Amino acid sequence: MRKEAQPDFFGRTRDELVELLHSECGVSERFRADQLYEWLYARRITSFQEMTNLPRSLQHTLQEKFSIPKLEVRHVSRSADGTKKFLFALEDGRSIETVLIPSEMRDDRSPRRTLCVSTQVGCPLDCKFCATASLKLKRNLTAAEILLQIFEAERITGEEITNLVFMGMGEPMLNYDNLVRALTIITDPKTEILAKRRITVSTSGIPAAIRDFAMEGLNVKLALSLHATTNALRTRLMPINKKYPLEEVLQAMEDYYKTTRRPVTYEYILFKGLNDSHEDAVRLARIARRVPSRVNVIPFHPIDFTHPKGIAAELQPATPTTFERFIETLRSEGAAVTVRSSSGKDIEAACGQLALSESAMITPESITLPAVTS
Ligand code: SF4
Repeated sequence: MRKEAQPDFFGRTRDELVELLHSECGVSERFRADQLYEWLYARRITSFQEMTNLPRSLQHTLQEKFSIPKLEVRHVSRSADGTKKFLFALEDGRSIETVLIPSEMRDDRSPRRTLCVSTQVGCPLDCKFCATASLKLKRNLTAAEILLQIFEAERITGEEITNLVFMGMGEPMLNYDNLVRALTIITDPKTEILAKRRITVSTSGIPAAIRDFAMEGLNVKLALSLHATTNALRTRLMPINKKYPLEEVLQAMEDYYKTTRRPVTYEYILFKGLNDSHEDAVRLARIARRVPSRVNVIPFHPIDFTHPKGIAAELQPATPTTFERFIETLRSEGAAVTVRSSSGKDIEAACGQLALSESAMITPESITLPAVTS
């Protein structure tokens, strides 16, 4: 169990470690913080005694003052398509889900393995197509808990993560400081965790946070959950749109591109009879042409297991014919289009389906952790 009332240690950036070592341990040499940083994030060593280039006295002080949090894997679901969904227990007894999706070959012909990470326990937003919304917000994840999802997924499977998407449970921009803290560590060339171009953060659209994020210098890819081309429909599907209407959000996305020069992505789930018309496709292409971008068209994955009500209960996937026609229109109108796969649908790990299955509520003693094969 984590020692109470201790300052967080793991999940701190290099500059924060310098300050912490000074204030808590009286150590002012910066190279000591550099050594710790390398042990924690590049070598992934979490026992102070194993940090052999630190003086014994400092190892002892660190051991006394700090502990390093753990994510405990409670269950791993495996899809027929190779997707794996991890149910992790946090130290306060809450749970999150993380999904590892194998997909097509990368440009260099090596396999791509994308990890979809969570940033919150539950989510305060109420997107009608999303199972996570049914959980409401329990709390933000710490930077450590965000990082540990990557480390644990790699440790458990023995597979190297090649791409990272912040599309799991929660709205990343509502856990801004810990998102930025985790990304600062992940994208630091010294940690060799992942390159900026292999990371995508997905947001429901919070304009001020998007602009701040552009100024952080992280230069990762940004995706907007768009899903509608009119305010009327978007507000029905995503109530956050009432607070931040379409035009404000789209302007923020343009600003993100202008600051970072990273093409942006618009995510668009196709719902039968709601947002799948020819006019919708034309409006969507018009949005996509404003700055270099691509549209990621996503099949709707039912969330019946959350017992949805209202408009959520009426949502249906677009028919295959409409889906194809919609994509053709987008392309003919000049939009760059990709189609999101439905990986992990059979284990409720596909886009919008993360909601902590009932197994999350089982006590640790009653669970047998399944053997994992890569
Ligand atoms: S889609 Fe994202 S922002 Fe919307 S409720 Fe689900 S987790 Fe939250």
